[in-house]
Amino acid sequence: MSDVAEGIGLEQTQALERRYLMRTYRRAPIDFVRGEGPLLWDAEGKKYLDFLSGISVCSVGHCHPEVVKAVRDQAHRLMHVSNLYFSEPMAQLAQRLSDSSLGGRVFFANSGTEANECAIKIARKHAHRRGVTEPEIVSFQSDFHGRTYGSLAATPGLAANEALGPMLPGFRSVPHNDAAALREAVGERTAAVLLEVIQGEAGVFVTSDEALLAAREACDAAGALLILDEIQTGVGRTGSLWAHQQTPIRPDVMTSAKALGGGMPIGACVTAPSCAEVLEPGDHGSTFAGGPVACAAALAVLDLVDDAVLLRHVRELGAYLCEKLDELDGVRATRGRGLMVGVALEAGLDAAAVGADLLERGLVVNAPRPDTLRLLPPLVIDSDHVELAVGLIGESLLGFAAG
Ligand code: PLP
Repeated sequence: MSDVAEGIGLEQTQALERRYLMRTYRRAPIDFVRGEGPLLWDAEGKKYLDFLSGISVCSVGHCHPEVVKAVRDQAHRLMHVSNLYFSEPMAQLAQRLSDSSLGGRVFFANSGTEANECAIKIARKHAHRRGVTEPEIVSFQSDFHGRTYGSLAATPGLAANEALGPMLPGFRSVPHNDAAALREAVGERTAAVLLEVIQGEAGVFVTSDEALLAAREACDAAGALLILDEIQTGVGRTGSLWAHQQTPIRPDVMTSAKALGGGMPIGACVTAPSCAEVLEPGDHGSTFAGGPVACAAALAVLDLVDDAVLLRHVRELGAYLCEKLDELDGVRATRGRGLMVGVALEAGLDAAAVGADLLERGLVVNAPRPDTLRLLPPLVIDSDHVELAVGLIGESLLGFAAG
């Protein structure tokens, strides 16, 4: 593949954006135009090693041939019919998701935040059936569940933005991993506890088994649902198909999105059998959700990722990545599981500046907090990619220490 310039170029793209797009994103000055496996190319033809995967989306690598084929074949056959009719790819994908996780039913959405909206509706209706009139959903203070109003209300850091108020009522939060506070917060009014198994946007913080067990026990005692948001952690990212499979608990409801579609937009809310019948006709819906092209892509993704050999590779390579990173000057600690890794930097190092420097050097990562780099490489990388990435991070950190 030749490294030559493509498209209208970064400057013209930036000019169009300045004039026509809402200013909701702070973007790095790069226009990626092509991807293959763990590699990306920008409009100027420069090559990058992608250790972010579009924020845990392109987990099978960019433009995986099997995913491309599934999308192409389905797009040729049928792109959309609406949810007024049956659809084979959707039904097959529901079977794959249910059988590989909680065993109940699936509602499809188009994104992570929408998958959580479905989970919130299930929780509220489930509570209503128990006679709860003012239901509450409990989350961790630093959790991230999305930006639509229900998910936003369960994302205290963003819900604090008064200009977007009033927020949806019926949400409360406790400090991350505070098992005692969690137990205390759950009571008769609790419809659900909604948690991330590993917090991603907060900076890769693993939720402790103690906190998960406390949540499970408190929900069982109160008759509330335990919902795990696996939007960033799911689909093999942590070295099991679902991250909760490496914990001592099972949720009642699980949400997925991001990597599920391999780059096509799709979200899913999966239940256990015990709450599979809560939503009924008229309770929820979406025009595009579960569309044949997105579902065909997701089936191809699961064919690749739901594989014991690949999942073991993720666990082993993740451990190797952390071991190598821990040896670097400038790295204080690593956090995470599998190929979901937070790299805590020594005091005085600015993760955003290091991330920008790494981009210049041809490595894509991001900085979810001022002291942490986040690495979410495609699951299909090998040890050479790990060594290349760790080498670049080491050089970058040395440069900052010297400068
Ligand atoms: N939940 C978690 C844990 C996430 O990491 C994200 C996105 O980063 C979301 C929900 C929201 O997903 P989406 O951006 O697809 O709405």
